[in-house]
Amino acid sequence: MDGARLTRRGVLAAGLAVGTASLLPGPERADRFVRTGAEGPPLTEGAPAPYIVNCPSWGARRPSSPVKIWDRRPIRILVHHTATPNVGDQSRGAGDRLARAIQNYHMNHNGWLDSGQHFTISRGGVVLEGRSLSLGVLNEGRRQVEGAHCTGQNVVAIGIENEGTYTGVDPTPALWNSLRATCAYICSRYGIAPTELYGHRDYKNTACPGDRLYRMLPRLRAEVGATLGRRVSRTEAEKASWPLLRLGDSGPDVTAAQYLLRDAGATTTEPTGRFDEGTADAVRTFQVAHRAEDVNGILGGESWPELARTVSRGPGRNGGDAWRAVDTLAEHRRVESVPDRVTAPTWQRLLGTGGTAVRPVTDPPGTARR
Ligand SMILES: [Zn+2]
Repeated sequence: MDGARLTRRGVLAAGLAVGTASLLPGPERADRFVRTGAEGPPLTEGAPAPYIVNCPSWGARRPSSPVKIWDRRPIRILVHHTATPNVGDQSRGAGDRLARAIQNYHMNHNGWLDSGQHFTISRGGVVLEGRSLSLGVLNEGRRQVEGAHCTGQNVVAIGIENEGTYTGVDPTPALWNSLRATCAYICSRYGIAPTELYGHRDYKNTACPGDRLYRMLPRLRAEVGATLGRRVSRTEAEKASWPLLRLGDSGPDVTAAQYLLRDAGATTTEPTGRFDEGTADAVRTFQVAHRAEDVNGILGGESWPELARTVSRGPGRNGGDAWRAVDTLAEHRRVESVPDRVTAPTWQRLLGTGGTAVRPVTDPPGTARR
């Protein structure tokens, strides 16, 4: 059912969990491998376990403090890219070195207790455990290791770091195949729907996981669904999101954002439709005012929901700039029937990203930032 098989290295992904737990500290030890989801919803779908290199096998350091485990299942998966060079070395050794480099960076530079992500996938398609205990806990399928890959999503979402920079190129076939297999396995262990795969930018003001990989997410949802024997329709595969806007962008979406920034009091400048330094400054002003985690002038999934406020037809506040944004987008995308009260789903439709709604679930209180 769980499909764990002997790989050419002769190790079961499931079996690795025990070794991992016995070597590492933690408030609770993942010292049991439970083959079925004994509590909670039944695991109706099965996907074979990919070969996942556990922490001891890639030479992980011990976490600087105990890894926290929550007695709950994650409900989605977040896809990241490492924003590192698109290296040609696709060997297992390169995967191990990548995992060590990320862990060192997260512990030494960021000051985190361990790697932030739950899993890592190299350009060669090597899948590695990220934060300690993540693999054993995944195999159990009942609990979740608290990660540090996206504030607000560290408990409710599994974070996968994909090696490379996918702003202008697609990932390697090896990486893609491993990403699909890993997502399918995670979905089957936790009972996560294949449509619940997202990009970091859906929640934060970041370009991660790169424009190309981000645009491949509907395909990933469909392929993960197929792996699980579940058909994912085109409508289901497209999720409602927000357009990532940053320096150099232009067009009606930028004009609308500029109207909204003026509506919010972040600027007094007349909209130009060009995202220039002044627009980036206005975004930063807005981000500071809204206590955004990343004050970087990039308009993404963290700031959009606050910027695209609920607005009613009419002059409104600030001379009606918010409704001007509505008009700009409605005209551009030829949206005929705009309701008198525009809320987030309508904004997303006007911005051209309207798909299936995203459940606004975030981490429980007590989750660490990052
Ligand atoms: Zn990311």
